[in-house]
Amino acid sequence: MTIMKRKIFIGVAWPYVNGNLHVGHYAGYLLPADICARYHRLSGNDVLMASGSDCHGTPITVESDKRGRSPQEIVEEYHAKDINLFLNVLGLSYDLYTRTDTPHHHRIVQNFFIKLLEAGYIFIDTTQQYYSEKEKKFLPDRYIVGTCPHCGFKDARSDYCEGCNKILEQGEVINPLSKLSDSKVELRDTQHYFLDWSRMQPKLENYVTEYGRNWRDWIYQETRGWLKERLKPRAITRDLDWGVPLPVNRIPKDKLIKDIENKRIYVWFDAVIGYYSASLLWARMQEYGLDQKKAELQVPSQEEETDLLNGQLADWWQPSPHEVPGTVSKHYYFMGQDNLVFHTLFWPGQLMIYNSNLHLPDVICINKFLNLAGQKFSKSRGISIDIKEFVEKYGNDIVRFYLTYIMPENKQASFYWEDFKEKVNSILIGNIGNFVHRSLSIAKGADINLIKDQQIKKEIEEEINKAFQNSRNFLENCQFRNYLEVIINLSAFGNKFFDTAKVWEIKKSDSENYFWALKQLYLLIISIAYLLMPLMPKTSEEIFKMLGLRSPQLWPSLQNEVNYLNELVSQINTDTRSHPLFTKIETANLP
Ligand SMILES: [Zn+2]
Repeated sequence: MTIMKRKIFIGVAWPYVNGNLHVGHYAGYLLPADICARYHRLSGNDVLMASGSDCHGTPITVESDKRGRSPQEIVEEYHAKDINLFLNVLGLSYDLYTRTDTPHHHRIVQNFFIKLLEAGYIFIDTTQQYYSEKEKKFLPDRYIVGTCPHCGFKDARSDYCEGCNKILEQGEVINPLSKLSDSKVELRDTQHYFLDWSRMQPKLENYVTEYGRNWRDWIYQETRGWLKERLKPRAITRDLDWGVPLPVNRIPKDKLIKDIENKRIYVWFDAVIGYYSASLLWARMQEYGLDQKKAELQVPSQEEETDLLNGQLADWWQPSPHEVPGTVSKHYYFMGQDNLVFHTLFWPGQLMIYNSNLHLPDVICINKFLNLAGQKFSKSRGISIDIKEFVEKYGNDIVRFYLTYIMPENKQASFYWEDFKEKVNSILIGNIGNFVHRSLSIAKGADINLIKDQQIKKEIEEEINKAFQNSRNFLENCQFRNYLEVIINLSAFGNKFFDTAKVWEIKKSDSENYFWALKQLYLLIISIAYLLMPLMPKTSEEIFKMLGLRSPQLWPSLQNEVNYLNELVSQINTDTRSHPLFTKIETANLP
């Protein structure tokens, strides 16, 4: 049976470049996306895992004002930091990591804008926004402070009061001032472009009905909730000077808004387009042999985009009309809880209007929030774990193990240091590490020729085949905790076999049975090494090394895993030195 190579697009949420990332980001979307990408590569599929820095919006201008540096300087600083973290510290297997402030991305965003405008989905409306006479400009809500009408808190933002946690309506805040200059501000009329989501409601309902069953139930339900309340128009521009500019020359005269040079496209509209623009960027790099920097600086023409869609990207982004979703190409998206509606509704909607032939998101994989000992991560309140420090202290694979073990797939989860120590010591070391180490130790120096032709115990064969089958199934559907459970169970099964077979005793008394038992142990260890590849790549590599085997590029093909692994046994070198895979975490080593 030949297995068709599928095109797997993995879109990972675009982090704002305004500060260091914490462990919640790793558990929330970075790690799940990486496990998924590795699994699909091991299954022989073509994978494009893409993302980049979200360089626009108020989170960046606020940080720049706070530090007295330009937004561009802030972007450069954290973009470089994130790249180092993702590639060198976490070893995330991105195929492309770009950014949203490139001419390439800006052009694609503007194309979307023009297309949606032409299709009649964008209209102009007037709203009110605070204007500062002193700064001669409109200011975003989080730049306005005043007194809360509910609790009298003096430092309330115009849209939210930290004193009483109430959301404030526009115009409610008393004595509003500009945060930048402490000068008075007043509400004034301002024109903006709005996207008319109500027109998309029927199409999006169909989309969610068809695709939503592949999502976690809570994601599906929350999306349905948005649809039930009916979608409302949403502003796609704002008064800000940091963001994607509007394509003024391409907008018909009668569709220009007032003061258009001082407006920018909202980040919610621009960042998700990054998934598509990154795919085009990647295809341009392949097609024309460009390096990334060069490609980012060039603006693609309309013809180029069409050519790439019909060529390089056809199988990735243009499904044929009767294709069953997910069979030729499958698109996964990974993000945090706060990004749900932008991916389950707005992004599919933007895609549908831009080009009705484009591939829609198949799997939208969202984790709920990870908290720290029951509290929300908050750097300003000192409730945080810096990913880089954490991984450098304990090792990336140990962190990957534990974050998967507690992954908040269906409900919020909490990180507790005590539990981290307990689970690593008892499960990762006590079960998995122990099984591999004790088995390799007792097999050391045994003649592989006496082992390789031994019969495979039926029960072992079944356990191994089942473990592969379940792992594939869970990984395909983003059930990462269940997948880890499969490995833990297989290792526990191995430990039980080791004890029941009394391998220590028969080594001296019953050599025939001893060699037979080693055969079973080796099959289990090779299976565990394979199954760990997407989750703990370094550990897996280490086990293969101790077996004297080269690390494989692919998982064994479907349905004959044991037969394939059986052939590998004859290549094992029993003389290589085995050592414990992990070091126990002591209480003294916790913060
Ligand atoms: Zn208040």
